[in-house]
Amino acid sequence: MPATPQQLATLVQDQQAAEATALEDAVAEEADGGAGPKLAALVAASLTAWVAAFGTLTAAGSGAKLTSLLAGVRKDVDQASRGLDTRSQRALEGALDSAARLGARHAAGFLTRATGRRHEVPDVGVPEDAVRAAASLATTVGEQLRLAARLLSPRMVSGNGWRGVLTGLGAVRRAITMVRQTIAWAIHRAINGGAAQTAEHYGAHLLWVTEPDACVTCLAYAGRISNRDGRFPGGLSMDPRARRASAAALDGPPAHISCHCRAVPWLPDWDTGPGTLPALLRDQAWQSIAVGRGRPSESHAARRRAAQALLAQRGLSARVRRQAAATAAART
Ligand SMILES: [Zn+2]
Repeated sequence: MPATPQQLATLVQDQQAAEATALEDAVAEEADGGAGPKLAALVAASLTAWVAAFGTLTAAGSGAKLTSLLAGVRKDVDQASRGLDTRSQRALEGALDSAARLGARHAAGFLTRATGRRHEVPDVGVPEDAVRAAASLATTVGEQLRLAARLLSPRMVSGNGWRGVLTGLGAVRRAITMVRQTIAWAIHRAINGGAAQTAEHYGAHLLWVTEPDACVTCLAYAGRISNRDGRFPGGLSMDPRARRASAAALDGPPAHISCHCRAVPWLPDWDTGPGTLPALLRDQAWQSIAVGRGRPSESHAARRRAAQALLAQRGLSARVRRQAAATAAART
């Protein structure tokens, strides 16, 4: 028997999303190889060493003491981040095929549940842009780590006190973040690429499924169906100020670096009216905008503007309209 729209939403937003995140986490952990925790310990240890050498955090370190302290920090950084560049690239490149296959399996599973008829998983490849992101990872991370080493030289630190050391360690932190973000983006790109190829295999368009509490950008895509060439308009947002009419079209999710949206196949003759999955997803998005609770990365102002803009939308329920009005009027 075909699944209900709510069951389909749960399949994609809970079950399949959790599998995608688990794959992302496993690759990120393999790539990091403990560099993150080692760096955190190193920040604490170098602070202790600085105070022991110069008395206060603001004291401008100098001379042989500074040279030797920084040599120690650079050695520890090197030890904490050794191999991060090549290890990250290897981990990501090694996982892209499984990611694309996972996306294909998810898409075929969705069609099976939506129709009540078994759909086989077709052969899929890894999208070019995910391959390219992985191929340049070692180089970008390596450059960032060399920048950190330069920042941790006596000439760069001298005069800035402990803050100078922290700036250098911040560059290492950025290398680690860069790894995490590239992996998140490329894995989700490959998963959605596998889903898109499966949709194409079955003559389907794509339906954009967000996380229920996604950002104002992604919520604008919730429940949207791709056009005939399988693409979505670029530059949409629930926040009118963030809309970009001239933005290039999107092949599908991810819409940004930590976007966990998913694309599922949607057959051209399937209904999209009230009570269907696209309508359910759109209602979820309106509900989220009306409530006004943003992602940590979002400003209250963006969420208020989005709620205000939502009020102009036809077809809002009385409850959603009330909530959106309250959010739009909120002062903080
Ligand atoms: Zn998203």
